[in-house]
Amino acid sequence: MHDRREQDQGTGKAAPKHRAPAAEGATEAEAVVFVCATCEVPLTGPLTRLPAVPEAPYYEWWEADEPGPSPPTVPSGCYAIETEPYGAPLVASEVPAQAMPRYGTISNGHGQWLVSQGPRGNIVMNPGDAHGLELQHASSACCGATPTGGMNQLCACGTLVATLCSDCCCPYELHLSAGHVRAVHP
Ligand SMILES: [Zn+2]
Ligand SMILES: [Zn+2]
Repeated sequence: MHDRREQDQGTGKAAPKHRAPAAEGATEAEAVVFVCATCEVPLTGPLTRLPAVPEAPYYEWWEADEPGPSPPTVPSGCYAIETEPYGAPLVASEVPAQAMPRYGTISNGHGQWLVSQGPRGNIVMNPGDAHGLELQHASSACCGATPTGGMNQLCACGTLVATLCSDCCCPYELHLSAGHVRAVHP
């Protein structure tokens, strides 16, 4: 399992993007609250957008005294948009590649690597800023949740709305599904 933390230096670096000019009179850092698109219940506190998903903090999870989540990728009060595919389905690749951003590699045991062909555009946030979500495991994990099986977070209305990544050997992130939540101004 230690290969999960190998960093692929050749990929995963998004090209710097120019920020869209803010609309006339709009505050660039205006906070939004994400609500369930099905039942409208708020799922987060007010969050301010970062220009990109930060690098996951370096963390020697195998040296930790007790298993538990790594330090969060996204600071509290913020969110960022994931531009790469994330979560299920995972497909076999002949060339070594990270399974999904900040996740490291997963081998399928047959000399191939598994890479995400999941959706792009997830809203990445600090799991501590979400509320009212219930975990429904979609893939095996030891002490937390893994994103390899797809969405695993249920809204109170019973709709799957997000993917939690919280196992000890993974980056600590909550990914709201862009198709299942809506941003509103608080
Ligand atoms: Zn809902
Ligand atoms: Zn664990």
